[in-house]
Amino acid sequence: MAKEETKAKTQDFIQRSLVVLKPDAVQRGIVGEIIQRFERVGLKIVGMKMVMPDEHLYRQHYEDIGKMITRRGEQAFRYNVEYMMTGPVIAMVLEGVEAQPLVRKIVGPTEPKAAEMGTIRGDFSHMSFGYSDAKGVGVPNLVHASGSLEEAKQEIDLWFNGNELYDYSDLNEKYTR
Ligand code: ADP
Repeated sequence: MAKEETKAKTQDFIQRSLVVLKPDAVQRGIVGEIIQRFERVGLKIVGMKMVMPDEHLYRQHYEDIGKMITRRGEQAFRYNVEYMMTGPVIAMVLEGVEAQPLVRKIVGPTEPKAAEMGTIRGDFSHMSFGYSDAKGVGVPNLVHASGSLEEAKQEIDLWFNGNELYDYSDLNEKYTR
């Protein structure tokens, strides 16, 4: 098959997803170990920066795009925004074959208690919804990962300018995509 033809056929499978290493990941000093998990499956980092977003951005991210109040209720939403504002975060855009569901699989389910060993949330935390609700805090679960392809597109537009994302070939691509 001609190279262009193959490229056209495979291009639709290449997705981008937003990942945010949350304040607990930064403050615990485990961002390197977390990023390694994404790198070693062959995902490509196409954008990355440390930022301290304001409440407005988190409201757009979690309510306008993620519909969190509808899904989880006002109190969980409020606790979560307070938690996210406790420190700087590292925002990244990862690219790869069907990257959005892949990144969610690597991160694991929302509640660390329920996250399998081998996932980031399962391996690096053990918090439960019950405990954090009793304490009145958002569940510190280390990483945000886009919940759908549609959300990924909106979140990337919210967090990154076009000129902060890079197109390049990485040396893994031949075998990992
Ligand atoms: P996810 O981050 O897995 O996509 P949600 O979008 O539903 O999950 O929730 C956003 C974040 O809010 C979660 O990652 C977690 O940190 C926090 N959170 C969710 N539910 C609760 C809850 N019941 N109590 C406290 N914090 C919560």
